[in-house]
Amino acid sequence: MEPAIPRVVVLGAGFGGVTFCQSFRPPRAVVYLVDRQNHHLFQPLLYQVATAGLSASEIAQPVRALFHDRPDVHVHLANVEDIRPATREIVVDGRTHSYDYLVFAMGGRTSYFGHPEWEAFAPGLKSLDDAQRIRRELLSAFEHAENTTDEAERRRLMTIVVVGGGPTGVELAGACSELARHVLRRDFKRIDPAQAKVVLIEGSPRLLGQFPEELGQDARETLEKMGVEVRCDTRVKDITRGRVALMEGSSIEAENILWAAGIAASPLTAKLGVPLDRAGRVLVEPDLSIPGHPEVFVIGDAAYLLDKDGQVVPGVSPAAIQGAKHVARIIESELEGAPERPPFDYWDKGSMATIGRSAAVAKLGPLQMTGFLAWTAWLFVHLLFLVGFRNKVAVLWQWFYSYVTYRRGARIITGLKR
Ligand SMILES: Cc1cc2nc3c(=O)[nH]c(=O)nc-3n(C[C@H](O)[C@H](O)[C@H](O)COP(=O)(O)OP(=O)(O)OC[C@H]3O[C@@H](n4cnc5c(N)ncnc54)[C@H](O)[C@@H]3O)c2cc1C
Repeated sequence: MEPAIPRVVVLGAGFGGVTFCQSFRPPRAVVYLVDRQNHHLFQPLLYQVATAGLSASEIAQPVRALFHDRPDVHVHLANVEDIRPATREIVVDGRTHSYDYLVFAMGGRTSYFGHPEWEAFAPGLKSLDDAQRIRRELLSAFEHAENTTDEAERRRLMTIVVVGGGPTGVELAGACSELARHVLRRDFKRIDPAQAKVVLIEGSPRLLGQFPEELGQDARETLEKMGVEVRCDTRVKDITRGRVALMEGSSIEAENILWAAGIAASPLTAKLGVPLDRAGRVLVEPDLSIPGHPEVFVIGDAAYLLDKDGQVVPGVSPAAIQGAKHVARIIESELEGAPERPPFDYWDKGSMATIGRSAAVAKLGPLQMTGFLAWTAWLFVHLLFLVGFRNKVAVLWQWFYSYVTYRRGARIITGLKR
């Protein structure tokens, strides 16, 4: 009798899970790719959807469509509920399935540092639903401001607070300022959206902590020139509806409060029964498997390990993609009967953050760039990444159109509750 076909279960169709399935081509295996969303999402451009630069369909594509020509890859739209390494089983939507290999690629989620109640008043930016919620609330605030005769209320409605001065916070603050000052400005009769106040709050002494200091300073100066009020060394004490209370005692009244301050791993890492770091990431072995279970791997944002320089491998898409390819090679080698388990070697390609129209900062190896040059590099890299997205021409056109005209096509408010 022929041995059973090995079952490889991949949890999560983000950068890690999708890349794994694309790279993994053994002679004999069946792959089950599970995600609770039906789309693969290009998260680096989420802020563009949140600030009406792009529409949702331009940065996401159906997972099923990605693998329509792969008879060995079965896509399942389902929520992963439990993982049982001891019996090699997972539970999805109440049903138990077994596996021979498991690839955990369920990424991270927004973390509110022990204050989950803030989520109701300060959305994070992790999913398309988050981005659409932010866009709806941002655009609605300007509509309400146009309708009110109360000056204090109008100011509150036109104030946006972004909490967190990392790349996402910097991108959001810059894009909000541009939306108000250049895009919405032409649309309203009674209010002047250019008077909107955007405040970026960061707890540490500077922006972009993981970038060199000069780049953080450049980002700050650029944002300030764009009218953003940058407040470093400022910590949030509490968030309630329309109000951010600060540790120093003062508070800011703002209709829109956007949370870009914390990320934690998927809560399902706790089901693996192995040590985790404070953010819930799995302390993986050098080959990305988990202690005691060489058939279970964790890749991407859910994994914690150090690179060869002793630095923590960052939660960025290149790390998820490289990890996925590494694990695909290991499993393939084992299925082909020539097992190899080299350690994962992360290649840091550098980091970039865009600040606004024609402004970004980038660190690529020893090279540091700012301004238009960095922005061009950012655009180029993101377009390269979008390869495989059928709609990349549409995205490029949309960007070009916004760049030249300052008009943003995705200013439609949907999902209003009346
Ligand atoms: C706003 C934002 C901007 C970013 N910008 C950049 C950038 O400019 N450059 C860069 O390199 N990186 C950027 N990143 C980080 C990058 O997106 C992540 O590092 C990368 O997505 C991690 O890949 P992953 O496969 O580990 O997880 P993800 O890509 O997050 O995928 C996880 C998948 O698991 C699914 N999932 C989660 N829980 C369950 C469950 N219970 N059941 C079923 N499915 C589940 C999710 O639906 C998702 O599809 C950004 C992230 C965000 C949020």
